[in-house]
Amino acid sequence: MSCTTARYSFELYPPRNERAAAALPATIDRLAAARPDFISVTYGANGSSRTSSLDVLRHILERTDVSPMAHLTCVGSSHEEANRLIREFLDAGVRRFLAVRGDPPEGAAPGEDGIGDIRSSAELVQLIHRVQAERVPYGELTVPGLPAQAVLTRREHVQIAVAAFPNGHPASHSISQDIDALLAKQAAGANLGITQLFFHAEDYLSFAQKAKDAGVAFPILPGIMPVTSPARLSRMLELSGEDLPSDLAIQLEVEPTDEGRREIGIEWAAGLGRRLLDGGAPGLHLYTFNQSEAVLSVLDRIGVLPAPDSISSATEREPA
Ligand code: FAD
Repeated sequence: MSCTTARYSFELYPPRNERAAAALPATIDRLAAARPDFISVTYGANGSSRTSSLDVLRHILERTDVSPMAHLTCVGSSHEEANRLIREFLDAGVRRFLAVRGDPPEGAAPGEDGIGDIRSSAELVQLIHRVQAERVPYGELTVPGLPAQAVLTRREHVQIAVAAFPNGHPASHSISQDIDALLAKQAAGANLGITQLFFHAEDYLSFAQKAKDAGVAFPILPGIMPVTSPARLSRMLELSGEDLPSDLAIQLEVEPTDEGRREIGIEWAAGLGRRLLDGGAPGLHLYTFNQSEAVLSVLDRIGVLPAPDSISSATEREPA
């Protein structure tokens, strides 16, 4: 794939304090100016609430031309609560979803696993399709970026993404179990995969090929993140469940300055992005850590950003 035609998207999380909330609108504006396919907003992770996710989604809907994607989780919910939640997001105007199960809280009561009525993300995908069919008239279904053909079925109009784990979900016993999970999500109506973080392009590329060979027909976007600070590094290690590759570990260790470590992280992520696109990835999904500068630098170095004047403010420094 030519880098100049590659697509990309971003992930944000709801702000955790007033300072972060004050900085977020400018970050969203800079990310939106880069004309991504969508900006996704996490849900329920790290104690964030439904309202805080909806606030960020509404901001994207009302202040930008970019289509937002709402992460939704069902863990711990009754069927009725999940129905209500989906209706609320649809009524706010959201038409793209990332359906994830979420992680059950530790210390569930004896005999209970804390998962709730909806046992998997595949069931959540089905429920989103069902609620959306009741709630949104067919004529109002438009998803920017999807082809506007009269022959599209209702299911094809709604983008429902699901999680994919190139190095295996922590609870799965083998990669084939993860691919079976993806096939179950596809059968439920999912039409996009987005991966957990990983460090090596080959991990993603071999997983995507195995998924395709097994019958997963939807595109799987690799999720990547520039490691520009110790906080991001520990988050990446936590999410990927892997050790830091030794070359990156050595470079970060010997570099004495914050600025130098940022540069290493951006260059490293750009190299990973290039290898993924060259290997056939359908695009890149960038975990932003709610900051635009590093992810835009990564895309710029890969050579996929639109003309620089439309995103000129991206070079302004943001608060950490
Ligand atoms: P499921 O698909 O329901 O799978 C759960 C477990 O069951 C896995 O072990 C899976 O392998 C297994 N399984 C499912 N179906 C099958 C099957 N048919 N056969 C065999 N095994 C099966 N969490 C949040 O709380 N909020 C977020 O916003 C959020 N966003 C995320 C975004 C991305 C891109 C990713 C990768 C993860 C995100 N998560 C989020 C984390 C996610 O909730 C957890 O990883 C959770 O443990 C699994 O979610 P899932 O949707 O993959 O679950």
